[in-house]
Amino acid sequence: ASPPASTMEDCCVKVAVHIRPLIGDEKLQACKDCVAVVPGKPQVQLGTHSFTFDHVYGSTATPSSAMFEECVSPLVDGLFQGYNATVLAYGQTGSGKTYTMGSGCKDGGQTGLIPQAMSALFNKIESLKHQIEFQLHVSFIEILKEEVRDLLDPNSSNKSDTSNGQNGKVNNIPGKPPIQIRETSNGVITLAGSTECSVQTLKEMADCLEHGSLSRATGSTNMNNQSSRSHAIFTITVEQIRKANSSDSNSNESMGDEYLCAKLHLVDLAGSERAKRTGSDGMRFKEGVHINKGLLALGNVISALGDEKKRKENAHVPYRDSKLTRLLQDSLGGNSRTVMIACVSPADINAEETLNTLKYANRAR
Ligand code: ADP
Ligand code: MG
Repeated sequence: ASPPASTMEDCCVKVAVHIRPLIGDEKLQACKDCVAVVPGKPQVQLGTHSFTFDHVYGSTATPSSAMFEECVSPLVDGLFQGYNATVLAYGQTGSGKTYTMGSGCKDGGQTGLIPQAMSALFNKIESLKHQIEFQLHVSFIEILKEEVRDLLDPNSSNKSDTSNGQNGKVNNIPGKPPIQIRETSNGVITLAGSTECSVQTLKEMADCLEHGSLSRATGSTNMNNQSSRSHAIFTITVEQIRKANSSDSNSNESMGDEYLCAKLHLVDLAGSERAKRTGSDGMRFKEGVHINKGLLALGNVISALGDEKKRKENAHVPYRDSKLTRLLQDSLGGNSRTVMIACVSPADINAEETLNTLKYANRAR
Protein backbone atom coordinates (compact mmCIF):
# COMPACT_ATOMS: atom_id res chain seq x y z
CA ALA A 1 0.00 0.00 0.00
CA SER A 2 1.23 3.47 -0.69
CA PRO A 3 0.77 6.25 1.85
CA PRO A 4 -2.08 8.69 1.37
CA ALA A 5 -1.19 11.84 -0.50
CA SER A 6 0.14 14.35 1.94
CA THR A 7 -1.40 17.77 2.31
CA MET A 8 0.17 20.95 0.99
CA GLU A 9 1.40 21.78 4.41
CA ASP A 10 3.33 18.53 4.59
CA CYS A 11 5.16 19.19 1.33
CA CYS A 12 6.97 22.23 2.53
CA VAL A 13 10.46 22.19 3.81
CA LYS A 14 10.67 23.32 7.40
CA VAL A 15 13.68 25.38 8.38
CA ALA A 16 15.04 25.88 11.88
CA VAL A 17 18.09 27.79 13.07
CA HIS A 18 20.28 26.52 15.88
CA ILE A 19 22.64 29.07 17.41
CA ARG A 20 25.27 27.41 19.53
CA PRO A 21 26.93 29.19 22.47
CA LEU A 22 30.31 30.88 22.10
CA ILE A 23 32.95 28.17 22.49
CA GLY A 24 36.50 28.07 23.88
CA ASP A 25 38.37 29.54 20.98
CA GLU A 26 35.88 32.32 20.43
CA LYS A 27 35.85 33.19 24.11
CA LEU A 28 39.65 33.30 24.15
CA GLN A 29 39.56 35.74 21.26
CA ALA A 30 36.99 37.79 23.19
CA CYS A 31 34.45 37.48 20.40
CA LYS A 32 31.17 39.31 20.71
CA ASP A 33 27.81 37.63 20.27
CA CYS A 34 26.39 39.17 17.09
CA VAL A 35 23.31 37.01 16.50
CA ALA A 36 20.15 38.18 18.25
CA VAL A 37 16.91 36.26 18.64
CA VAL A 38 13.74 38.35 18.68
CA PRO A 39 11.97 37.35 21.93
CA GLY A 40 8.95 35.14 21.40
CA LYS A 41 9.44 34.98 17.65
CA PRO A 42 11.30 32.58 15.39
CA GLN A 43 13.27 35.52 14.11
CA VAL A 44 17.01 36.14 13.94
CA GLN A 45 18.84 39.42 13.57
CA LEU A 46 22.38 39.87 12.37
CA GLY A 47 23.42 43.48 11.91
CA THR A 48 20.76 45.11 9.79
CA HIS A 49 19.51 41.77 8.45
CA SER A 50 16.47 40.08 9.83
CA PHE A 51 15.17 36.60 8.96
CA THR A 52 12.14 34.60 10.05
CA PHE A 53 12.20 30.81 10.15
CA ASP A 54 9.89 28.05 11.35
CA HIS A 55 11.84 27.70 14.58
CA VAL A 56 14.84 29.35 16.18
CA TYR A 57 16.81 27.73 18.99
CA GLY A 58 19.03 30.19 20.77
CA SER A 59 22.15 29.54 22.71
CA THR A 60 20.82 30.34 26.16
CA ALA A 61 18.67 27.29 26.75
CA THR A 62 19.45 23.67 26.08
CA PRO A 63 17.14 23.33 23.14
CA SER A 64 17.78 19.73 22.29
CA SER A 65 14.50 18.23 23.45
CA ALA A 66 12.34 21.07 22.08
CA MET A 67 14.20 20.87 18.79
CA PHE A 68 13.64 17.15 18.64
CA GLU A 69 9.95 17.39 19.53
CA GLU A 70 9.23 20.18 17.07
CA CYS A 71 11.44 19.26 14.16
CA VAL A 72 12.17 15.55 14.13
CA SER A 73 9.55 13.73 16.18
CA PRO A 74 6.79 14.31 13.54
CA LEU A 75 9.11 12.81 10.92
CA VAL A 76 9.70 9.71 13.04
CA ASP A 77 5.92 9.34 13.46
CA GLY A 78 5.47 9.76 9.71
CA LEU A 79 7.66 6.73 9.04
CA PHE A 80 4.90 4.56 10.49
CA GLN A 81 2.50 5.91 7.85
CA GLY A 82 5.06 5.26 5.15
CA TYR A 83 6.41 8.77 4.66
CA ASN A 84 10.09 9.15 3.87
CA ALA A 85 11.87 12.00 5.58
CA THR A 86 15.13 13.91 5.64
CA VAL A 87 16.80 15.97 8.35
CA LEU A 88 19.68 18.15 7.13
CA ALA A 89 22.22 19.94 9.30
CA TYR A 90 23.69 22.85 7.33
CA GLY A 91 26.36 25.36 8.32
CA GLN A 92 30.01 26.30 8.27
CA THR A 93 32.60 24.02 9.84
CA GLY A 94 32.51 24.47 13.61
CA SER A 95 28.93 25.75 13.69
CA GLY A 96 27.62 22.67 15.53
CA LYS A 97 26.24 20.39 12.80
CA THR A 98 27.74 17.21 14.17
CA TYR A 99 26.87 18.22 17.73
CA THR A 100 23.27 18.94 16.74
CA MET A 101 22.87 15.66 14.88
CA GLY A 102 24.72 13.64 17.51
CA SER A 103 26.69 11.85 14.86
CA GLY A 104 30.10 12.63 16.28
CA CYS A 105 32.08 10.34 18.50
CA LYS A 106 32.82 12.72 21.30
CA ASP A 107 29.86 14.86 22.28
CA GLY A 108 26.19 15.29 21.62
CA GLY A 109 26.06 11.55 22.22
CA GLN A 110 22.72 11.33 23.98
CA THR A 111 21.18 14.70 23.27
CA GLY A 112 21.79 14.84 19.55
CA LEU A 113 18.90 14.48 17.14
CA ILE A 114 19.93 11.04 15.86
CA PRO A 115 20.07 9.36 19.29
CA GLN A 116 16.74 10.95 20.17
CA ALA A 117 15.20 9.79 16.89
CA MET A 118 16.44 6.27 17.54
CA SER A 119 14.88 6.13 21.03
CA ALA A 120 11.60 7.57 19.81
CA LEU A 121 11.53 5.03 17.02
CA PHE A 122 12.08 2.08 19.35
CA ASN A 123 9.51 3.38 21.85
CA LYS A 124 6.95 3.54 19.12
CA ILE A 125 7.85 0.09 17.81
CA GLU A 126 7.54 -1.31 21.31
CA SER A 127 3.97 -0.05 21.51
CA LEU A 128 3.01 -1.47 18.11
CA LYS A 129 4.90 -4.69 17.84
CA HIS A 130 2.05 -6.91 19.00
CA GLN A 131 0.13 -6.02 15.86
CA ILE A 132 2.86 -5.22 13.33
CA GLU A 133 6.01 -7.00 12.35
CA PHE A 134 8.98 -4.64 11.94
CA GLN A 135 12.23 -4.94 10.10
CA LEU A 136 14.87 -2.25 10.57
CA HIS A 137 17.98 -1.52 8.59
CA VAL A 138 20.58 1.18 8.81
CA SER A 139 23.22 2.40 6.45
CA PHE A 140 25.82 5.07 7.03
CA ILE A 141 27.70 6.56 4.12
CA GLU A 142 29.81 9.58 3.35
CA ILE A 143 29.93 11.52 0.09
CA LEU A 144 33.26 13.10 -0.65
CA LYS A 145 34.27 14.49 -4.02
CA GLU A 146 31.15 12.95 -5.57
CA GLU A 147 32.20 9.48 -4.44
CA VAL A 148 30.27 7.41 -1.94
CA ARG A 149 32.15 5.77 0.93
CA ASP A 150 30.61 3.09 3.11
CA LEU A 151 31.12 3.95 6.78
CA LEU A 152 29.74 0.56 7.92
CA ASP A 153 31.91 -1.59 5.67
CA PRO A 154 32.91 -4.52 7.88
CA ASN A 155 35.97 -5.18 5.72
CA SER A 156 37.44 -1.72 5.87
CA SER A 157 40.04 -1.32 8.54
CA ASN A 158 39.79 2.08 10.07
CA LYS A 159 42.71 1.57 12.38
CA SER A 160 46.03 2.58 10.95
CA ASP A 161 45.87 2.26 7.20
CA THR A 162 46.63 5.61 5.71
CA SER A 163 47.95 4.46 2.36
CA ASN A 164 44.71 4.99 0.47
CA GLY A 165 43.99 8.32 2.01
CA GLN A 166 47.05 9.92 0.58
CA ASN A 167 46.22 9.58 -3.06
CA GLY A 168 42.68 10.71 -2.63
CA LYS A 169 40.95 7.36 -3.14
CA VAL A 170 37.74 7.25 -1.22
CA ASN A 171 36.96 3.55 -1.15
CA ASN A 172 39.54 1.75 0.88
CA ILE A 173 39.06 -1.75 -0.50
CA PRO A 174 41.12 -2.34 -3.62
CA GLY A 175 38.96 -3.82 -6.33
CA LYS A 176 35.72 -3.19 -4.47
CA PRO A 177 33.19 -1.83 -6.94
CA PRO A 178 32.13 1.74 -6.23
CA ILE A 179 28.80 2.25 -4.49
CA GLN A 180 26.12 3.22 -6.98
CA ILE A 181 22.96 5.18 -6.54
CA ARG A 182 20.12 3.53 -8.46
CA GLU A 183 16.47 4.22 -9.02
CA THR A 184 13.90 1.42 -9.26
CA SER A 185 11.04 1.55 -11.75
CA ASN A 186 8.74 2.94 -9.05
CA GLY A 187 11.08 5.74 -8.10
CA VAL A 188 12.72 4.21 -5.05
CA ILE A 189 16.35 5.20 -4.66
CA THR A 190 18.75 2.45 -3.59
CA LEU A 191 22.44 2.34 -2.82
CA ALA A 192 23.98 -0.66 -4.53
CA GLY A 193 27.05 -1.99 -2.80
CA SER A 194 26.76 -0.30 0.58
CA THR A 195 26.32 -2.15 3.85
CA GLU A 196 22.74 -2.43 5.11
CA CYS A 197 22.85 -3.54 8.72
CA SER A 198 19.81 -5.35 10.00
CA VAL A 199 19.15 -4.24 13.57
CA GLN A 200 16.77 -5.54 16.21
CA THR A 201 17.51 -3.34 19.19
CA LEU A 202 18.30 0.25 20.06
CA LYS A 203 21.72 -0.86 21.23
CA GLU A 204 22.49 -2.44 17.86
CA MET A 205 21.41 0.69 16.05
CA ALA A 206 23.46 2.91 18.36
CA ASP A 207 26.46 0.67 17.74
CA CYS A 208 26.11 1.24 13.99
CA LEU A 209 26.02 4.99 14.53
CA GLU A 210 29.09 4.85 16.71
CA HIS A 211 30.99 2.52 14.41
CA GLY A 212 30.32 4.72 11.38
CA SER A 213 31.14 7.93 13.24
CA LEU A 214 34.47 6.46 14.25
CA SER A 215 35.16 5.34 10.74
CA ARG A 216 34.41 8.85 9.51
CA ALA A 217 36.61 10.49 12.11
CA THR A 218 39.48 8.11 11.36
CA GLY A 219 39.25 8.74 7.65
CA SER A 220 39.20 12.38 8.50
CA THR A 221 42.54 12.50 10.33
CA ASN A 222 44.07 10.46 7.55
CA MET A 223 42.87 12.84 4.90
CA ASN A 224 43.27 16.40 6.06
CA ASN A 225 40.09 16.66 8.04
CA GLN A 226 37.90 15.48 5.22
CA SER A 227 34.86 15.30 7.45
CA SER A 228 34.35 19.01 7.07
CA ARG A 229 34.23 18.52 3.32
CA SER A 230 32.01 15.46 3.19
CA HIS A 231 28.33 14.81 3.68
CA ALA A 232 27.57 12.03 6.17
CA ILE A 233 24.21 10.30 5.75
CA PHE A 234 22.81 7.97 8.39
CA THR A 235 19.72 6.23 7.04
CA ILE A 236 17.15 4.25 9.01
CA THR A 237 14.79 2.08 6.95
CA VAL A 238 11.59 0.87 8.61
CA GLU A 239 9.65 -1.97 7.02
CA GLN A 240 6.27 -2.92 8.45
CA ILE A 241 4.19 -5.95 7.77
CA ARG A 242 0.72 -5.74 9.20
CA LYS A 243 -0.78 -9.19 9.29
CA ALA A 244 -4.13 -9.54 7.57
CA ASN A 245 -5.92 -11.26 10.44
CA SER A 246 -4.42 -9.20 13.20
CA SER A 247 -6.76 -9.08 16.17
CA ASP A 248 -6.60 -5.29 16.11
CA SER A 249 -7.80 -5.00 12.57
CA ASN A 250 -11.32 -3.67 12.80
CA SER A 251 -11.76 -3.79 9.07
CA ASN A 252 -14.72 -5.92 8.04
CA GLU A 253 -13.27 -6.90 4.71
CA SER A 254 -10.65 -9.56 4.47
CA MET A 255 -7.52 -7.75 3.33
CA GLY A 256 -4.13 -9.14 2.46
CA ASP A 257 -1.02 -8.39 4.46
CA GLU A 258 -0.19 -4.74 4.37
CA TYR A 259 3.38 -3.76 3.68
CA LEU A 260 4.87 -0.30 4.25
CA CYS A 261 8.44 0.83 3.88
CA ALA A 262 9.85 4.25 4.72
CA LYS A 263 13.24 5.70 5.42
CA LEU A 264 14.65 8.55 7.44
CA HIS A 265 17.86 10.19 6.29
CA LEU A 266 19.81 12.10 8.94
CA VAL A 267 22.39 14.21 7.16
CA ASP A 268 25.42 15.98 8.56
CA LEU A 269 26.27 18.15 5.56
CA ALA A 270 29.70 19.33 4.48
CA GLY A 271 30.88 22.67 5.81
CA SER A 272 29.25 25.47 3.87
CA GLU A 273 32.22 27.84 3.97
CA ARG A 274 33.61 29.04 0.68
CA ALA A 275 36.39 27.13 -1.05
CA LYS A 276 38.80 30.04 -0.62
CA ARG A 277 38.77 29.48 3.10
CA THR A 278 39.98 25.91 2.84
CA GLY A 279 42.84 26.92 0.56
CA SER A 280 42.73 27.00 -3.20
CA ASP A 281 45.71 24.78 -3.86
CA GLY A 282 45.36 21.81 -6.21
CA MET A 283 43.50 18.90 -4.63
CA ARG A 284 41.85 20.78 -1.86
CA PHE A 285 40.38 23.26 -4.26
CA LYS A 286 38.89 20.42 -6.27
CA GLU A 287 37.29 19.07 -3.10
CA GLY A 288 35.87 22.46 -2.34
CA VAL A 289 34.34 22.67 -5.77
CA HIS A 290 32.71 19.25 -5.42
CA ILE A 291 31.25 20.00 -2.05
CA ASN A 292 29.82 23.19 -3.31
CA LYS A 293 28.24 21.08 -6.02
CA GLY A 294 26.27 19.05 -3.45
CA LEU A 295 25.26 22.05 -1.38
CA LEU A 296 24.49 24.08 -4.48
CA ALA A 297 22.31 21.34 -5.92
CA LEU A 298 20.59 20.89 -2.56
CA GLY A 299 19.82 24.60 -2.39
CA ASN A 300 18.36 24.50 -5.89
CA VAL A 301 16.28 21.40 -5.20
CA ILE A 302 14.90 22.74 -1.95
CA SER A 303 14.08 26.10 -3.38
CA ALA A 304 12.33 24.46 -6.35
CA LEU A 305 10.30 22.33 -3.93
CA GLY A 306 9.38 25.30 -1.80
CA ASP A 307 8.17 27.32 -4.75
CA GLU A 308 4.46 26.63 -4.92
CA LYS A 309 4.09 28.07 -8.39
CA LYS A 310 6.88 25.95 -9.80
CA ARG A 311 5.46 22.91 -8.08
CA LYS A 312 2.06 23.38 -9.64
CA GLU A 313 3.64 23.67 -13.05
CA ASN A 314 5.51 20.44 -12.34
CA ALA A 315 8.73 22.30 -12.94
CA HIS A 316 11.99 20.44 -13.21
CA VAL A 317 13.63 19.72 -9.87
CA PRO A 318 17.37 19.31 -10.47
CA TYR A 319 17.97 16.17 -8.36
CA ARG A 320 20.49 14.78 -10.81
CA ASP A 321 22.96 17.60 -10.37
CA SER A 322 24.80 15.92 -7.48
CA LYS A 323 25.18 12.59 -5.70
CA LEU A 324 23.71 14.10 -2.56
CA THR A 325 20.45 15.22 -4.14
CA ARG A 326 20.24 12.07 -6.23
CA LEU A 327 20.52 9.93 -3.13
CA LEU A 328 17.90 11.97 -1.28
CA GLN A 329 15.60 12.24 -4.29
CA ASP A 330 12.79 10.00 -2.97
CA SER A 331 13.00 11.60 0.48
CA LEU A 332 12.89 15.28 -0.47
CA GLY A 333 9.67 16.73 -1.78
CA GLY A 334 6.75 14.71 -3.08
CA ASN A 335 5.29 12.57 -0.36
CA SER A 336 8.11 13.18 2.08
CA ARG A 337 9.03 15.58 4.83
CA THR A 338 12.16 17.62 5.10
CA VAL A 339 13.64 19.67 7.90
CA MET A 340 16.75 21.76 7.53
CA ILE A 341 18.55 22.84 10.67
CA ALA A 342 20.83 25.76 9.89
CA CYS A 343 23.62 25.78 12.47
CA VAL A 344 25.41 29.03 13.26
CA SER A 345 28.08 30.38 15.54
CA PRO A 346 27.10 33.57 17.38
CA ALA A 347 30.65 34.99 17.20
CA ASP A 348 31.31 38.23 15.36
CA ILE A 349 34.37 36.74 13.61
CA ASN A 350 31.99 34.31 11.90
CA ALA A 351 29.41 36.93 10.96
CA GLU A 352 30.06 36.66 7.23
CA GLU A 353 29.56 32.89 7.09
CA THR A 354 26.62 33.13 9.48
CA LEU A 355 24.96 35.59 7.12
CA ASN A 356 25.59 33.21 4.21
CA THR A 357 24.01 30.38 6.19
CA LEU A 358 20.96 32.44 7.11
CA LYS A 359 20.53 33.47 3.47
CA TYR A 360 20.81 29.87 2.27
CA ALA A 361 18.31 28.73 4.89
CA ASN A 362 15.98 31.60 4.08
CA ARG A 363 15.97 30.54 0.45
CA ALA A 364 14.86 27.07 1.49
CA ARG A 365 11.59 28.31 2.92
P1 ADP B 1 30.56 21.11 12.82
O1 ADP B 1 30.14 19.68 12.80
O2 ADP B 1 29.52 22.03 12.23
O3 ADP B 1 31.90 21.34 12.22
P2 ADP B 1 30.75 20.67 15.66
O4 ADP B 1 29.46 20.00 15.91
O5 ADP B 1 31.96 19.79 15.58
O6 ADP B 1 30.67 21.57 14.37
O7 ADP B 1 30.92 21.78 16.78
C1 ADP B 1 32.11 22.57 16.87
C2 ADP B 1 32.48 22.72 18.35
O8 ADP B 1 31.43 23.44 19.02
C3 ADP B 1 32.62 21.41 19.07
O9 ADP B 1 33.70 21.52 19.97
C4 ADP B 1 31.32 21.26 19.81
O10 ADP B 1 31.50 20.52 21.00
C5 ADP B 1 30.92 22.68 20.10
N1 ADP B 1 29.45 22.85 20.11
C6 ADP B 1 28.66 22.78 19.02
N2 ADP B 1 27.38 23.01 19.34
C7 ADP B 1 27.34 23.21 20.67
C8 ADP B 1 26.30 23.49 21.62
N3 ADP B 1 25.02 23.61 21.24
N4 ADP B 1 26.64 23.65 22.91
C9 ADP B 1 27.93 23.54 23.29
N5 ADP B 1 28.96 23.29 22.46
C10 ADP B 1 28.68 23.12 21.16
MG1 MG C 1 31.13 18.11 11.93
